[in-house]
Amino acid sequence: MSRLPIVFFGHGSPMVALEKSPVTRSWNQIAGSIGKPRAILCISAHWQTRGTAVTAMAQPRTIHDFGAFPQALFDVQYPAPGDPELAERVRELLEPMPVKMDANWGLDHGTWSVLVHAYPEADVPVIQLGMDLGKSPAEHWLVGRMLRPLRDEGVLIMGTGNIVHNLPAMDWANPAGDPYPWAERFNSTMCRAIASDDPQTVIDYEALGDAARLSVPSSDHFLPLLYVLGARHEDEAATFEPDFIQHKSLSMTSVLIGGA
Ligand code: ZN
Repeated sequence: MSRLPIVFFGHGSPMVALEKSPVTRSWNQIAGSIGKPRAILCISAHWQTRGTAVTAMAQPRTIHDFGAFPQALFDVQYPAPGDPELAERVRELLEPMPVKMDANWGLDHGTWSVLVHAYPEADVPVIQLGMDLGKSPAEHWLVGRMLRPLRDEGVLIMGTGNIVHNLPAMDWANPAGDPYPWAERFNSTMCRAIASDDPQTVIDYEALGDAARLSVPSSDHFLPLLYVLGARHEDEAATFEPDFIQHKSLSMTSVLIGGA
């Protein structure tokens, strides 16, 4: 079995689940270039846990973890099966770190708003990994490194979040407006570091000062990227598509690493 790529999706608003746009077409093309994996392990911005956790149920529910959105979004279901055996494999790979086998979560919108476009048939088993609130950026990266063998076992490791995610600063009336200079600077610095396989700059993102504080006001949407980079092998090339910032402070940049 060959080694699967790794991918970080910049997911945007939950409404993207209902859209057909250049972004959603790119996500579908990324999945098309990867092919159908045996299973997917997803690290979502929307699941932070006390201690590391993994969904271990046979049939995860579709979680509508948001407030005021149209009924059509609440009607979306992504009925992919779970994979309890893969959850057990994840627990084993992370030993001796304790991993909670979770029976309550499911698939949150960080996961399904992307997967309805990437793998619309919902026939690939999906499990989620909860990000431990108590871990440092370096420790999140290390969990990704410990999970790296899964890439050779037919499992697609994907993260879903945003490199720049400042909702209060977003200019809702102006989706295509010029990004704030700090957003542009932070996004491009991270992309350059990823392109040159320099994970330390990404792990130490807070060293960018104001650009980091404004681009990553809370770490939830940024951390999934660290898991993906942890699972990288040396000399694997990265591609960035799509790669733009919308509403001035929301980066839609996705990163695909490895593969053909
Ligand atoms: Zn989100």
